[in-house]
Amino acid sequence: MRFALLEGRRVEAKPKQRATCPGCQSEVVAKCGKNNAWHWSHKARAHCDPWWETEGEWHRNWKNRFPVDWQEIICDDSASGERHIADVKIPSGLVIEFQHSTISPDEVKSREEYYKSIIWVIDGCKNDFDRVNFSLSHSRPNEEGLAHFTWYGRSQIFKRWHTTKPVFIDFGSKHGFWRVLHFDTVNKKGIVGLVNIDKFVNAVCSGTTDFSSACSGQVILATSL
Ligand SMILES: [Zn+2]
Repeated sequence: MRFALLEGRRVEAKPKQRATCPGCQSEVVAKCGKNNAWHWSHKARAHCDPWWETEGEWHRNWKNRFPVDWQEIICDDSASGERHIADVKIPSGLVIEFQHSTISPDEVKSREEYYKSIIWVIDGCKNDFDRVNFSLSHSRPNEEGLAHFTWYGRSQIFKRWHTTKPVFIDFGSKHGFWRVLHFDTVNKKGIVGLVNIDKFVNAVCSGTTDFSSACSGQVILATSL
């Protein structure tokens, strides 16, 4: 994780430091290598958030589009006593999870039930075949940014990320990333909307966009390519 507690303050990792995990209160040590972004690491992960994934550059870059005070937010559910760390939580309560690793449908459901107001941003470049297949399979976006596609790829990325919550997939394009608006798991045809990343971030940060439903029609599409 990027932040840990030292003398009551949220601090970033510095060489040879130790601090306290804000999630489980156990000791974390600074990992300040050359290959990965500097971060805090648990000596033992057993009692911390099982949903947490080790973050790479993709993860860190996305989180950094948002104010640091909104990153890695501890969330407590008073009813269940469950505690989790949201990647980004907007003061309005909306949680954004940046997902690089593959997770089971059960875990997707658990997280959605826990956070309730949640947007998924999926790393579509993790598998290069997915990125290439997607670029070959979608139509040119219309003036509203909408494109149709038929998924010939072998991976389950669209089937897996077929949920009632808003899902965006980042295939690494400079034009933006894609909101999955519809996917038919039988004929594998779908509709996606090209979303300008800056506009997305601005809209989310302003708190004015309602993402509570995947079908809300609030897509924040890129207006031009
Ligand atoms: Zn912890």
